[in-house]
Amino acid sequence: MARLRFKAVEEAQNRTATKVEIPTSKVTDFYGSNIFNDEVMRAMLSPEAYMKVTVAIKSGDKIDREIADEVAAAMKSWAVSKGATHYTHWFQPLTGGSAEKHDAFFDINLDGKAVEKFKGSALTQQEPDASSFPNGGIRATFEARGYTAWDPTSPAFIMYNEAGTGTLCIPSIFVSYTGELLDSKSPLLKSLHALDKAATDVAIIFDRHVEKVSATLGAEQEYFLVDKSLFNARPDLMMSGRTVFGHPPAKGQQLDDHYFGSIPPRVNAFMVDFEFEALKLGIPVRTRHNEVAPAQFEVAPTFEEVNLACDHNILLMDLMRKIARKHHFEVLFHEKPFAGINGSGKHNNWSLGTDTGVNLLSPSTKPKESLRFVTFLVNVVKAVHDNADLLRASIASAGNEHRLGANEAPPAIISIFLGTQMTKVLNDIENKEIVSIEKGENAYIKLGLNRIPSILLDNTDRNRTSPFAFTGNKFEYRAVGGSANSAQPMMILNTIVANQLLKFRVDYDTEMVDHEGKKEEVIVKILKGYIKESKKILFEGNGYGDAWKEEAEARGLSNIASTPEALKAYLHKDFIEIFERMGVLTEREFHARYEIELENYIKKIQIESRLIGDLAMNHVVSTAVKYQARLVQTAKALKDMDLDNEAQPVIHIIREISERVTEISKKVSEMTDSRKKANNIDNIEEQAKLYGTEVKSFFDEIRYHVDKLEILIDDEDWPLVKYRELLYIR
Ligand code: ADP
Ligand code: MG
Repeated sequence: MARLRFKAVEEAQNRTATKVEIPTSKVTDFYGSNIFNDEVMRAMLSPEAYMKVTVAIKSGDKIDREIADEVAAAMKSWAVSKGATHYTHWFQPLTGGSAEKHDAFFDINLDGKAVEKFKGSALTQQEPDASSFPNGGIRATFEARGYTAWDPTSPAFIMYNEAGTGTLCIPSIFVSYTGELLDSKSPLLKSLHALDKAATDVAIIFDRHVEKVSATLGAEQEYFLVDKSLFNARPDLMMSGRTVFGHPPAKGQQLDDHYFGSIPPRVNAFMVDFEFEALKLGIPVRTRHNEVAPAQFEVAPTFEEVNLACDHNILLMDLMRKIARKHHFEVLFHEKPFAGINGSGKHNNWSLGTDTGVNLLSPSTKPKESLRFVTFLVNVVKAVHDNADLLRASIASAGNEHRLGANEAPPAIISIFLGTQMTKVLNDIENKEIVSIEKGENAYIKLGLNRIPSILLDNTDRNRTSPFAFTGNKFEYRAVGGSANSAQPMMILNTIVANQLLKFRVDYDTEMVDHEGKKEEVIVKILKGYIKESKKILFEGNGYGDAWKEEAEARGLSNIASTPEALKAYLHKDFIEIFERMGVLTEREFHARYEIELENYIKKIQIESRLIGDLAMNHVVSTAVKYQARLVQTAKALKDMDLDNEAQPVIHIIREISERVTEISKKVSEMTDSRKKANNIDNIEEQAKLYGTEVKSFFDEIRYHVDKLEILIDDEDWPLVKYRELLYIR
């Protein structure tokens, strides 16, 4: 085994950067060249078809048969001209990733001739044999079929394989035959629709020209890179995406010398390569840098409409995995691949933008616009406050469980950071008596609304420990896991904000009747109430500290560390009621999602537990006893020579090995028993609970002794690639 380790280390050390050839450095020459975008449609469709498609994209309406045929024909000839041989509906079942089933354009006519075929019906709808996708019991009964349907708001794209031929991928939703949603995209689209309606109804209070509000997302993606050979020599990385054992290296991240440091050449080549491919797919990647931990990096795109941004993030992760292999890397998106070293998050930067070009969460120099800004800001705060447990559930997973609550990542407590200045503005609104706001600018000055833009422009007080932070013109939802599909947390955030804005509009209309139409006064009055009701969620301090846990508890905020516990929010009738009312998810669909997430959790812990058992016994213990046998020989030899004193330290090591091996064997066998016990439980909730408490509790106990053995046993014999070898890329 140790041979495999040394071979891998040697391979990794001898590698040089893979050469990447980019035809031109001028991005505009190739940006979006692999997508069926507006420009291509305009060139290839009849004016009538082009118009109908663009209207459908904007309104979300259905496209009729003839138009679909015309679009399909254009898409096909475009795709074939670019080397595509196949097409697929590209969708996001509840596995977290994407799915595809390729069909050839090529077909045989009745007279035996080969033709290239792609009808409108094949573009708009497909029936994948979907029985093996997670459905949480929805399709188990009588109708096992599901279907996928084209989402024209996200452009079709071509993905190329190793052989250089391509597949036309058509972004699609995935639903059961009975109409239940079985994917991440369809409820996201519904939530965006609900949010558009609710936010527009509020935005028109301030500007009657607003017709549409879109939510925007810029997802900063953190990831680790590990050399392919080293990765292959770590069964735990291969099978679970994280290392279950490994002693911390002498040098970790304590020197803070990796963050924003110079990017290693091999990594740089990889970045250039995948960014080039991403840009061709219209994914607007802009930022790249080293992250805090060694071997950790980040990529960030320019923000886009949420549905598009979510598709792009999933696509980007896929692309990165594929291209990493060309560079002899494996990319890790796991939330916590290495114990004791920072994990990876996906910071979801979220805002609201109108079709008139206004970012509703961006402060303005004009007091009236400031009031609009504060209105939207406070409504988001209120929505998060009222639905914090649901937001917590939306990011719950076995991987993120390592991160949330550990002392380096946002805690499992949902709180909002606003910055000192905005906190003060909210305090002023809450506490200052507003006699009459319509008496011109003075009232705004009293409220502090005149000061917002100038203070926010130099808003340097970023809080890196908050799970949900206002960052000047957007909220940054930082607690989302690195491997997650953003569609889930975004769908939840959109829906709770939509619900809140709807409530605001009702409150506003009601108050306006009593106040004889004094708009500003009414708004401030309502906001005062909202701030009072939700201010306990505002927190400016250190979210990683223990003091916050105590304070949060005193404030009555939830701190739900366990995934199965967090997921229970999906069963809460108040939350379900909101989602049914907003037309996003039904109770049955929520329940299905709950079950799928629980199952997922159980499977992940189960796999890790088996891995730990296998590695501990067949790799670590076996190595330890072999080494121990050698030490026994040495000790004997020393004694034979009457060197009793010299034999003592050797005997000491022999004893320590025995103790640790005994502990490991005992714990592994207890863990196996607890796994058996859990597997025999029919109730999935009970099962998840047992996995999350009992089974998982052995992980750290076993690891403790394994990691001690790692620093005790001869380096020459140690079978698992060590952290110091994994983490330092040259
Ligand atoms: P920082 O790096 O200081 O956090 P940036 O301005 O670089 O801030 O933005 C980080 C991320 O936030 C980027 O992905 C960016 O596209 C995104 N972002 C910026 N403005 C918005 C917005 N209005 N809506 C959504 N995301 C945004
Ligand atoms: Mg950021």
